[in-house]
Amino acid sequence: MLRLLVLVLLAYLVYLGLENLLGKLRNATGGGPLPPPAPPPRVTATVHREAVEELVPCARCGVRVPRSRLLARPGGEMVCGACGDRG
Ligand SMILES: [Zn+2]
Repeated sequence: MLRLLVLVLLAYLVYLGLENLLGKLRNATGGGPLPPPAPPPRVTATVHREAVEELVPCARCGVRVPRSRLLARPGGEMVCGACGDRG
């Protein structure tokens, strides 16, 4: 029984020692949680793209094609080139 008490005491002392060590480490690094790292510098890259055309689904096959590539069928439906060729 005495052995168990000694073991518990030793474990407690080790725990205290570790806490002490960690506290010292924390103090060495300035204490408290680390400050958040500085945000990376913002690089604003302006990409010149041609005006993005709206993609419109073909009325027949559903393939999305740029609006300028759509063909107006007599019935008023807008179809893609492939569907327009088929008639
Ligand atoms: Zn189509």
